[in-house]
Amino acid sequence: GGEIAARIVEMLLRAHAKVVVVSPELGGTMADLLADDKITFVKSKFEKSMINSQMLVYAATDEYSVNKVVHAAATANNIPVNVVDTPELCSFITPSIIDRSPVVAAVSTGGASPVLARQIRTRLETLIPSSYGKLASLAADYRDKVKQKIDEKKRSKFWEFVFKGPVPEMVFSGKISDAKKALDLALEDSDMLLEKQGEVYLIGGGPGDPDLLTFRALRLMQQADVVVHDRLISTAVLDLTRRDARRIYVGKERANHAVPQNEINRLLVDLAKEGNIVVRLKGGDPFVFGRGGEELEELVKAKIPFKVVPGITAASGMASYAGIPLTHRDYSQLVIFATGHLKNNTSNLNWKSLAQPNQTVVFYMGLKGVKTICDKLIEHGLSGDTPAALVQKATTPEQKEIIGTIDSLPELVIEHDVKPPTLIVVGGVVSLHGKLNWFDADKKKKHEPRLF
Ligand code: SAH
Repeated sequence: GGEIAARIVEMLLRAHAKVVVVSPELGGTMADLLADDKITFVKSKFEKSMINSQMLVYAATDEYSVNKVVHAAATANNIPVNVVDTPELCSFITPSIIDRSPVVAAVSTGGASPVLARQIRTRLETLIPSSYGKLASLAADYRDKVKQKIDEKKRSKFWEFVFKGPVPEMVFSGKISDAKKALDLALEDSDMLLEKQGEVYLIGGGPGDPDLLTFRALRLMQQADVVVHDRLISTAVLDLTRRDARRIYVGKERANHAVPQNEINRLLVDLAKEGNIVVRLKGGDPFVFGRGGEELEELVKAKIPFKVVPGITAASGMASYAGIPLTHRDYSQLVIFATGHLKNNTSNLNWKSLAQPNQTVVFYMGLKGVKTICDKLIEHGLSGDTPAALVQKATTPEQKEIIGTIDSLPELVIEHDVKPPTLIVVGGVVSLHGKLNWFDADKKKKHEPRLF
């Protein structure tokens, strides 16, 4: 009969429940509800026999023993029961909801932290305009018409098209009749609209931490019919692609190409020709040692439209998360990103230019060739005590930094069992790591809450 119970009853009434309240007394709100004829009131202590044909039972007394009896009675009758603030006496929980009826989103932490659930809800509230409900109702009004005109396979494409277009904005600004006109038109032209050719989005997935994706990347990832990704894409990033999108893994191990590049190129063309929105997800930035250019050339040949979304390249992510600035007034006036993937154990890199003072050189794919890289730099005049670092799995909870010099680096790789993906950084800026390194991978793993 108290205020907590009243809040639950109000929620139930909004969902059109018929509510019976059992209590020796009624508080103010509940008495009002009774006066308004919204509830049936049984003025009594709780008796087991009162539970028989209810659909749902709540207990909101402040006596644990009574709550326990209610729970037992409901359970015996196979009726779902919720005892307020007592997870062990709940067969169901009521999550925090964002109510845009008929659209309802619920956030639950399984009872672990209602406060956190509420915080997440508040953030979602700001993301979902309050008129989403109207949009959903409009869609409901058109369901049958759409069903008649468009065959099942293409229906979801049609709605995606509608929701991406101007209709939602019309609804949000109250112009329902305009929205209806636009929908009618779209239905009329649906054959043409749905014949649309596919498209490829070449997207940089960043170095690992999903928080480093761009908004644009996230938005386009949500539209994918198919996601073509390689090994460097972390599961945390992959999980942000559209849930029902097909995923195709074309990962490459070093010198052991799982799917040859020309087959990947052809795959992208074929998928787009079938009318799919193809998201080609690459680690880091697609145009930094990503062969993104080659894939696009094929698309141009096949006249398939595409978009490119930049990503944070590994060197840049590493710099921030390992506290190793790429340039610095005192140490480095030039940055070079070089491939350390050496052909026949050497490469046509310009070693003389890499072995200069006052610059930073970041080697991608350099782990296997680390000994050659360090030897060549020394051979071309760089001092053996030049600071150098290995940064493994930068920006992820498994990030590991190993600091040394170009003399010691090859030994350190063996000693610390360093694995790819790893960057090699050479230059005076490495000496700043001790001061600027803020990112505690272990801590991040345990404490930092994440929305996405
Ligand atoms: N397009 C990617 C690079 C692909 S080449 C980008 O812009 O980052 C693959 C190499 O990138 C790996 O061998 C490794 O040297 C580097 N790399 C990618 N992600 C990394 C990470 N999280 N930490 C360290 N190195 C990484």
